[in-house]
Amino acid sequence: MATKSVSPQVGRSFMNMPLIIDSHQDLAWNMLTYGRDYTRSVQETRRLEAGTTTPERNGDSIVGWPEYQRGQVAVVFATLYATPARKKEMGDTVVYADYETAHRLYRNQIDLYRKLVDTHPDKFNLISSTKELNAVIEHWSKPVPDGEGHPVGLIYLMEGAEGIRSPHELAEWYDLGLRIIGLAWAGTRYCGGTQRARSLDG
Ligand SMILES: [Zn+2]
Repeated sequence: MATKSVSPQVGRSFMNMPLIIDSHQDLAWNMLTYGRDYTRSVQETRRLEAGTTTPERNGDSIVGWPEYQRGQVAVVFATLYATPARKKEMGDTVVYADYETAHRLYRNQIDLYRKLVDTHPDKFNLISSTKELNAVIEHWSKPVPDGEGHPVGLIYLMEGAEGIRSPHELAEWYDLGLRIIGLAWAGTRYCGGTQRARSLDG
């Protein structure tokens, strides 16, 4: 990620703070697995999860829309992610054992993000073009009235490419808004990964 370096200055105004790009958040996976709602604050999520097994299994929530506002996180690479069955951990429900299931699970996460931005267009926008990116940055560059905020731009990042049944599908995924693909996640049939060579057996 290329970031513009800005040296800290005492007394600089809030609006002059650099915007941040968060280059990896498993938002959909957390929404599906733990029912997390990223329109909520971290504090609210932690309050709701107190006494459940979620913090122990997944760690305390550390991101939410109010925190994105405070941290000036204007853009998030929002992942599409599912776990191969051989790496399943306790509580993981977004799991595939074959490529058709992988395709369905990855595809469903696009629908989930769409629902999020349709329901909360003031909080989250999808970005799949320079025009949409510029619109989000433009919004962040202007002050907003108290109590309001800026939409966080989401760019789809496929983590592990097993959702793509064949490279022939790439145009279809592009049309759905997918802009970044990480071929590997602990090794896929497309690419070797952590502790695993390229695999043809899923
Ligand atoms: Zn991830």
